[in-house]
Amino acid sequence: MPEKNIVIVGGGLVGSLWSLLQAKRGHKVRVYEKRSDIRRLTAEEGRSINLVVTSRGIEALQMAGIWDEVSSITKPIYGRTIHDQQGLHTWQPYGRDTECNYSISRRQLNGMLMDQAEAAGVEFFFEHAFETMDFRNRSMSFSTVDHNTISIDADIFFGADGGGGGTRAALCAFLKSEGVKDVSEDLIPLSAGYKELFMPAGANGQPQVEQKGLHIWPRGSHMLMGLANLDGSFTMTLYMPRKGELSFEQLKTDDQVSSFFQEYYPDAVPLMPNLLRDFQQNPVGGLGTVRCYPWIWSDCFALIGDAAHGIVPFFGQGMNAGFEDLTVLNRNLEEGYSWEETLRRYEKIQKPNGDAIADMALENFVEMRDSVGQSDFQLLKSIEKELESRFEGSYRSRYSMVTFSLNSYFNAKRVGEIQEEILKELADGVQDAAEVDYGLAEKLINERLLVYAKEAGVDFSW
Ligand code: FAD
Repeated sequence: MPEKNIVIVGGGLVGSLWSLLQAKRGHKVRVYEKRSDIRRLTAEEGRSINLVVTSRGIEALQMAGIWDEVSSITKPIYGRTIHDQQGLHTWQPYGRDTECNYSISRRQLNGMLMDQAEAAGVEFFFEHAFETMDFRNRSMSFSTVDHNTISIDADIFFGADGGGGGTRAALCAFLKSEGVKDVSEDLIPLSAGYKELFMPAGANGQPQVEQKGLHIWPRGSHMLMGLANLDGSFTMTLYMPRKGELSFEQLKTDDQVSSFFQEYYPDAVPLMPNLLRDFQQNPVGGLGTVRCYPWIWSDCFALIGDAAHGIVPFFGQGMNAGFEDLTVLNRNLEEGYSWEETLRRYEKIQKPNGDAIADMALENFVEMRDSVGQSDFQLLKSIEKELESRFEGSYRSRYSMVTFSLNSYFNAKRVGEIQEEILKELADGVQDAAEVDYGLAEKLINERLLVYAKEAGVDFSW
């Protein structure tokens, strides 16, 4: 395929990895990023949330040849440690003993992707904010920090400017002006926001809680989460409504914050010595879902990552879903499809997957802040564990399908709906997984789950 001149808007996780993959294919790639270079920030300025990398993210990083290097700065996470209000812990493994997610600092990963991309020849232009695009003339304009506007021409453009960037609106406006029907752009904010807090390592750099779990303090309308960093510390995140009763807007003074944490998270308070300072200093971040269509235009433009399908973070899949976009695009190019055909195939494959993971991430919000602490949910999970071990090759949970396999998000969602019906039927009238009628379980799995799995090409055997 002849060398193309490619421009990517946004040097976040998805834009940076895409630039690397395309530079490795021999194209001339330029990335225009609104912010300054995150690799130059001080440790305090650039403090970062951490993310989990799962199967789809790993696949894309392997495709770029950098998973070994990336994995060296991750911590494996094998399940959830649930903290109740009395300070008791429950362990819920994610999957089989060896199956895990990988916790990583978003900033460190982003910096590493930029380094790799630059080494492959990508040019980054920081402090350049996208302004407009002239789709017909394949030209984009950017404003610089000194208030200049520059125009850039290229063959192909990618909008990787996240949920709040401007390329999606530019595409929609252009398509509407061309008379394209069914153009849609929805940004659905979540009523809850989040605030980052911090649990430092304890004495001698030892972690204060065990590192192999995602720590969750579910409290109904709000929850606290902790995810391990490499140095024994944990990034903590409080999710709660932005407004109303028990909301961020209610927690203003130090006294209000202290008594809130003492009431709901008493065992976490001694683990966070700078809780009040962090709470007062750190902003409340917004969360939401982006759904839009179309994602592409001709052989000229495509939205990728959060710009196409921003989702709430409760399945730990936003970046992973964005990286899967890149695998799909790159694989089509490798298979010899033209750019136009590649973009069309990408949109056709990934749009239903983007919608499915957006729905599942919203469902997981309720699961994590509320259901994980409830006994009927725990019963369903223990029956599900039993089904996974008794019916190996025929049953894997929805969580496992999303996180450990490459089955499509669309199929994982559909399979999850069938499984939920089966689990509820099996749990009816039982108190414990040992009381379940496993003959009935086999019948239901064969008659309902495996029929769909065969039809849709779902693989339970990884
Ligand atoms: P972004 O990371 O948002 O990058 C977009 C880039 O575009 C930014 O650098 C931005 O500065 C730039 N930009 C914006 N506007 C312009 C403009 N006008 N001009 C030029 N540049 C512009 N995902 C997971 O997979 N696993 C997790 O565990 C996970 N946890 C999360 C926890 C939280 C609290 C949050 C908020 C998100 C989490 N996510 C997780 C989601 C993940 O962070 C996003 O899906 C991912 O960052 C999307 O990458 P992106 O490159 O598409 O967008």
